[in-house]
Amino acid sequence: MRLQDKVTLITGGNRGIGLATARLFAQEGARVVLMARDRGQGERAAREVPNTRFIAGDVRIAADCERVIADILSRGDRLDVLVNGAGIIYRNRAATETSEEEWDATFDTNVKGAFLMSKSAMPALRASRGAIVNIASYVGLVGFAGASAYAASKAALVNLTRSMALDHARDQVRVNCVCPGSVDTDMIHEAWRLYGDYEAAQRVWAAKHPLGRVATADEVAHAILFLASDEASFITGVALPVDGGITAA
Ligand code: NDP
Repeated sequence: MRLQDKVTLITGGNRGIGLATARLFAQEGARVVLMARDRGQGERAAREVPNTRFIAGDVRIAADCERVIADILSRGDRLDVLVNGAGIIYRNRAATETSEEEWDATFDTNVKGAFLMSKSAMPALRASRGAIVNIASYVGLVGFAGASAYAASKAALVNLTRSMALDHARDQVRVNCVCPGSVDTDMIHEAWRLYGDYEAAQRVWAAKHPLGRVATADEVAHAILFLASDEASFITGVALPVDGGITAA
């Protein structure tokens, strides 16, 4: 019970890595709030995971971020952990083939969303001496062909993490991020469909990782749990690769 009675908010919590994190956090004793845009998917997820509820919202909208935090605090709850997991990607585009709308949507979700939510949550996290864990990506640490906007946004998220860690160290709020390699969720399934040959794509993606396979969402959730828990009490400002060895090369 490494998160016993900790109140945690997970954006992008209605599926994929966010939902796997919610499941694991609930098993570890946390009370979990999920935030995402798709209400049907969110309510199904909240029914499936004990001690979990869903609040619909869009991380790109400041008022939505503030409303979600106000909802949590209005129940007399504290907020101990924020996981910024909401993210989108447009694939198969060099930077020069990326539209301005795609660029803005990517940065608004992946960077501004984490900024807005962290800003809204900070007073409560200061009060609880809490922790933020951002879900960045290994492509925030190295260059990545075919999704420049996404890679640039994840690099920005890595440095937002480090900078916020420094700004809020005096508040005893820790800020870290995980940098996953490819993870078996809807996001990577879409990449495999775009590749044309789904089975071949699975082999190609597995071969990119020195461990010879993609990650499960649970494997990323365990790294997020570690960074959110008191076991990481002296860790702040790190970008932890969970990438099967890709960035070791
Ligand atoms: P999914 O596509 O399965 O999930 C994305 C999540 O983000 C959904 O819950 C979605 O919910 C939510 N989301 C997207 N836009 C918004 C928004 N504007 N406001 C609120 N929620 C939003 O992807 P994953 O679970 O794989 O990805 C989770 C995170 O992990 C992302 O940040 C992704 O970039 C990162 N990541 C994923 C990797 C992978 O290979 N899968 C590798 C490295 C990093 P809804 O659409 O209902 O709003």
